[in-house]
Parts: sequence; C-alpha cells; structure tokens
Amino acid sequence: MTKLGVYIQVPFCRTKCTYCNFHTGVVPARRFAPYVEALCREIRSHSSLRGAPGVSLPAGLTVDSVYIGGGTPSLLEPRLLGEILQAIRNSFSCALDEVTLEADPETIEAEKAADWAASGINRISFGVQSFIDDELKSAGRRHRAADVYQGVGMLRNLGFANISFDLIAGLPKQTEASWGRSLEELIALSPEHVSTYIMEIDEGSRLGLEVLEGGSRYSARELPSEELMADFYALAQRELRSAGYQQYEISNWAKPGFPSRHNLKYWRREPYLGFGAGAHSFSGTERWANVHDAAAYVASVSAGQSAVESIDTVTRELAFEEELFLGLRQLAGIDLRRIERQYGVDLEAKLLHLASRGMVEREGNMLRLPADKLSVSNEIIVELLR
Ligand code: SF4
Repeated sequence: MTKLGVYIQVPFCRTKCTYCNFHTGVVPARRFAPYVEALCREIRSHSSLRGAPGVSLPAGLTVDSVYIGGGTPSLLEPRLLGEILQAIRNSFSCALDEVTLEADPETIEAEKAADWAASGINRISFGVQSFIDDELKSAGRRHRAADVYQGVGMLRNLGFANISFDLIAGLPKQTEASWGRSLEELIALSPEHVSTYIMEIDEGSRLGLEVLEGGSRYSARELPSEELMADFYALAQRELRSAGYQQYEISNWAKPGFPSRHNLKYWRREPYLGFGAGAHSFSGTERWANVHDAAAYVASVSAGQSAVESIDTVTRELAFEEELFLGLRQLAGIDLRRIERQYGVDLEAKLLHLASRGMVEREGNMLRLPADKLSVSNEIIVELLR
C-alpha cells in the first residue's frame, strides 16, 4: 500500500497571539460553515480541480493519516469536523490510522471531545506552549495552565490514547528555571508525543515589530537571548530523554510507537495533499500551494475553480537538497547509498571530513547528525551540498 497524507488547513483563531505570523484570521463564527463547505467541495473534486492547473498524483494511494491544523481547528463545531472527515472517506481509498486535530486547551469541552472521537479523530495535538501563566499571558495566549490539566483529564476520560503537547522555547519572560518547570509539568502529564519549537521572531508579528521599533506592550525586551534558547533546547533533550521519550526529529520526541505518522511524511518526502486556504501539497515530483486568503479560497472553490496559486516542479537538484535538508532532520538519518545511487553523487570525501570533526555519524548505510549537533544542522548540510 502506498500511503498518502491529507492535511486540512483551518485558518481561524479567536485572537491573535503576539508572536504569530501565520496566515490566520480572527473572523466571526458564521464564516466557519461556508469555509468547511468549500473544503469539502475541494476534497470531493480533488481530481478535477488538480487537473486544471496541471498537477497529478501517483495512482493507487491510500490515505492513512489526516492532520487538521491551523489556526485553531478545535473552534469548529464537531459536526463540521465530521463532515470534513466524511468527505475524505468518500473521496479516497482510506485506512485511517492516525487522525490528528490541533486543539487549543481552552477550547476543549467533554461533549465536543466525545464527538471528535466518534468522528474518528484519535490524536489531539495540544497547543500548550508553556505552563507558566505569566508567559502565556504575555504571548497573548487565551489559555492558562489550568486549562491544560482540565483538557487532558477530559481527553483521557474519553479514552484518547495519543496526545501531543507543543512547547515554545523562547517566549518573553521565559527563564531557564521557568522552562525547566514547564518541562517538568509536561512530563508529569505524560503525553505520548512532544514538539518543542524554538521561538522565531518575525517582523510580521506584533512582537517582531516591537523588537524592531521598540515599545513595551508585548514584552519584547524580556525575550531570552539566543544562547539561552540553545540551553533550553539542550535541557529539553536531557529531560525528555530521561523521562523515556525518544527524539526522532529536530523538534519532536515520542514514547515508543508514537512518532507522528503524518509528520514523518514531510521529512521522508512521501506524498501528501493539502486542502484549504494556504495548504501545501507534494506529489513526489511537484509541490503546489493554495491561495492564502480564506475569502479568495472560498470564492474560487465555490465557483468550481482550482484554488492552487503556485506550482513548483521539484528538479533532480532540488530533490537532492530536500533529501538532505528534510531527511537529516530525523534522528534515524538517511540511507546514504540509496541517495548516492539515485542522484549520482559521491559524498564520501565530504563525509570523511565532517565525521573527523564529529559532525556526522555513520552506521551501515545510514547517515545521521549526532543529537548534540542538531542545532547546527543547516551549517552541516550546506557543507555537504557545496
Ligand atoms: S493559536 Fe496559533 S495560529 Fe492562532 S494566533 Fe496563536 S499562534 Fe497563531
């Protein structure tokens, strides 16, 4: 069975976090249903809509993972989420092993979560970010630590056995002690999966603007330094490892058997289809993306037209770069012999040089980056590509 991932983008939030640079909007709830109607139409007509801009998929694919992300897709009524999943089941060959819903902790209610389970959602990705209320408040998050405890309790009572937590290293006001406390609280709640992201300051966010232009509203002056963020990352690696989590990607840890099947497809360059405003897709030979603006997306799809805004053919040279940049994010590494054969390259001399400096590790045909060198992965890969 050749597997296919389906990503669903729900670009709506209740408020905008201070650091957010995503294409998400705060819109009235009455806009959710027309958006979902367009989503279902795009899913049902995926072959013809894709045919118009000229992108194609290999035949015989079976959808085994669905990821509903955003934005805050847990804002949608469960009925609408159920309709999206039904449209996928009706339109593709499916053997759905992993169906993830991103949920903000304050949006979880027992009744809603029971409906999620009934519609086939079996994995919840929680946007926890921090367990320190003052940090959550400064970042403009709506939830507080108590919402996380309450939400996890409800999900466990309903039988959800695959829960992921996101944490952000580098929030304003974060210190090594407070980061350590967030890690401790997370470990005590024992989610099956953990993602930790290093804060990236973007001028498209309110916090990023304050960094550039000054001011005190978003606590830009209380951002941890880059050196401190590197220490946060190293502390997460140590604490999560000793709590029994295996790091399988630069930003991701899992208990045995719980790496995200869907996200692995991105790093392994397996095909996935994205539906919704700004959603990206990959066929193995082409990458394409829908228009970002939600209203423009709904208008296109409702008029029976494709919402694809850009298509890029992945040349052999680009594919080779992707193999290294995406593949080496994984702790398992990449199959060096396959890559050398497939792309007609010989990396031996460069690898000898990097290995002598402890920058890469070899085990049989597998090539990987050592866990303590992941923070400089880009520099190592650039050297391999030179
Ligand atoms: S919840 Fe996520 S997508 Fe929404 S504003 Fe906050 S960071 Fe952005």
